[in-house]
Amino acid sequence: MSFVNGKGLHLVITGAPGTGKGTQAGVLKRKYGICHLSTGEMLREEVKKATKIGEQLKDHLAAGGFAPDELMIQMVSSRIDEPDCQNGFILDGFPRTIKQAEELSKMLAQKGISLNAVIEIIVPDQVIVDRILGRYTCMTCGESYSDKYHKPKVQGVCDICGGIKFSKRLDDTKETIERRLKKYRDFTYPTIAYYEKIGLLKAINGNGSVNEVAERINNALNMK
Ligand SMILES: [Zn+2]
Repeated sequence: MSFVNGKGLHLVITGAPGTGKGTQAGVLKRKYGICHLSTGEMLREEVKKATKIGEQLKDHLAAGGFAPDELMIQMVSSRIDEPDCQNGFILDGFPRTIKQAEELSKMLAQKGISLNAVIEIIVPDQVIVDRILGRYTCMTCGESYSDKYHKPKVQGVCDICGGIKFSKRLDDTKETIERRLKKYRDFTYPTIAYYEKIGLLKAINGNGSVNEVAERINNALNMK
């Protein structure tokens, strides 16, 4: 692995819901000892812990809107200063707009960091729908599994933590999944084009087993 700036590995991972990007982010986190920053989870944490950022966020999220850019940047900025991110990070769920992508680059530049790559995981819609409908999550550590594509090695036991309780999202129906896919396209596609233009994009075929996709990502990251 050749690190561009010698300061660690700094990645963005993107892909529609159900492409397995969270799973792949977890693989990269363990492989390189970097932190996995899922901004969706970070936002929920801030609200739950009622931090200053959380209080400001609550109204926006309750109205079904997105968190304001400055708050997102502020939240990501302070998070990547923490010790577990010293080898780098993988950002998941952010940036979602070109404006956010530009703000992110500026904030990172102030820390002397530049992104190494933006990984886009691509999976056909029909596969995504099948995957999400069969998806369930470990209630102990949050690892996600799928009936068809990513079963635990031992039936009913989490590979990561050994947990035996799993949950399914109630809002996973064909209609809501199609709505989420459309929303993803409308909002996120421009950022993918943006990263392609500046030469950071690595488009990865996400159709296959977790190991197969991890291998493709690994190959793409090693091709400098
Ligand atoms: Zn688990």
